[in-house]
Amino acid sequence: MSFRRIINHSPNYRNRTQPIRYIIIHCSKFSPEKQIEILNEYKLSTHYIISQTGRVTENCPPERVAYHSGESHWLQSPEKSLNETSIGIELEAPHLGQTTEDYPRSLRSALTRVLKELSKVYNIRPENVLGHSDIAPTRKIDPGCGFPWYKLYRNGYGVWPDFKQTSPKGSEEELLQTIGYDTSDLTAARYAFCRHFLPEEVLINNDLQELLDNPYPKDFTVQNQEKYQLYLRATAKAYETARKKRYWYMEE
Ligand SMILES: [Zn+2]
Repeated sequence: MSFRRIINHSPNYRNRTQPIRYIIIHCSKFSPEKQIEILNEYKLSTHYIISQTGRVTENCPPERVAYHSGESHWLQSPEKSLNETSIGIELEAPHLGQTTEDYPRSLRSALTRVLKELSKVYNIRPENVLGHSDIAPTRKIDPGCGFPWYKLYRNGYGVWPDFKQTSPKGSEEELLQTIGYDTSDLTAARYAFCRHFLPEEVLINNDLQELLDNPYPKDFTVQNQEKYQLYLRATAKAYETARKKRYWYMEE
């Protein structure tokens, strides 16, 4: 890796047997040092940790599998977890990403540098940059509704709804599945979608412990149904289009 980083490698990893396809974005309210302490305590690990000031720590080299996602699914993946096929990036976010202030410019530029290098080295498709709550909607809240997904998209990573294209027909569940969400808990998938694409629908919870204990409101319903349907269809279309795209630097 050519970006500047502090090396603090975890003893918790295994060797990869599958190619890397995804980058998973996480957040934690703790400093990188404290995060490493906690990861070690639970025998977990991640690949990179980025501090509020943009300092990057490497906790596991990307060539190895780190334990950052737990049980997780995307696009009806048959495996129990995306760990085998992903790189994990933890961001230091004092309010667990509940506010955009959690992601200052210094952190964002470091993240872009890291994403740029990893995507190039491992041929990771832009649509495969996801949040932890996208792949584990019943359990996880990170990186939170304050995470700047649109800014990231403008920098070339992730996907944003394409309102110019004809949106596909389908039920709410089918559209969420087209995007990639595991809909075995439809309310959780709906909430995870809003966290990522329609944060104005998300209820801000300043009790961080309560938020971690209850990652989504069990009785969640969308306020602006019309806008939600529009966003849902435009996002499904955008993912379909993104997946068809060929990149000259990627062998398929
Ligand atoms: Zn996470």
